[in-house]
Amino acid sequence: MENIEEKLKKIKNEVLSCKKCSLYEERITNKFYPVIGEGNHQAKILFVGEAPGLQEAKTGRPFCGAAGKVLSELLDSADIKRENVYIANILKDRPPGNRNPQPEEIKACTPYLDRQIEIIKPKVICALGNYSTAFIFEKYRLKDQIQGISKIHGKIFEVNNIFTNIKIIPFYHPAVVLYNVNMKEILQKDFQILKKFK
Ligand code: URA
Repeated sequence: MENIEEKLKKIKNEVLSCKKCSLYEERITNKFYPVIGEGNHQAKILFVGEAPGLQEAKTGRPFCGAAGKVLSELLDSADIKRENVYIANILKDRPPGNRNPQPEEIKACTPYLDRQIEIIKPKVICALGNYSTAFIFEKYRLKDQIQGISKIHGKIFEVNNIFTNIKIIPFYHPAVVLYNVNMKEILQKDFQILKKFK
């Protein structure tokens, strides 16, 4: 039987050679790295972002650029250590020019995230932004409860059945703060909800 580390390593190796979508070419051409995910392999809280940006693709680390700085500050504000959570994205590779993820890329890439979630078994999944929220709500059959992020941000959606016992919390994507500094207060307020799960 493989342990958690071995199972996650296997995903990493598969992603490294994954050619299921055109972002592989993009990675190779630009000498980028895939961003698999980072953090505590037994985290109670797992964050799902959208896709790596330039800084992330250059380093292979999620949320290490400007949006990552905001995320780290938000975690700090809720007294949560970044090393205690796990951070991943729906796409492992950077879309050119940071364009939106395409449906075929999401379809090709998210089975890796599904497996990461299955291995790490978080109690809480924090969906950052619209794409991540749409994917996670569909995955957990919450589609009928999905509304614009402005309506559901910071709210807890519970999934309890014989297979799953998990809480889903959508948040605005931390990058919104880079365009509108007033959003920081809203995100900080929303992040306080995580204190009870750390
Ligand atoms: N934005 C994301 O959604 N993910 C990252 O890893 C970085 C920026």
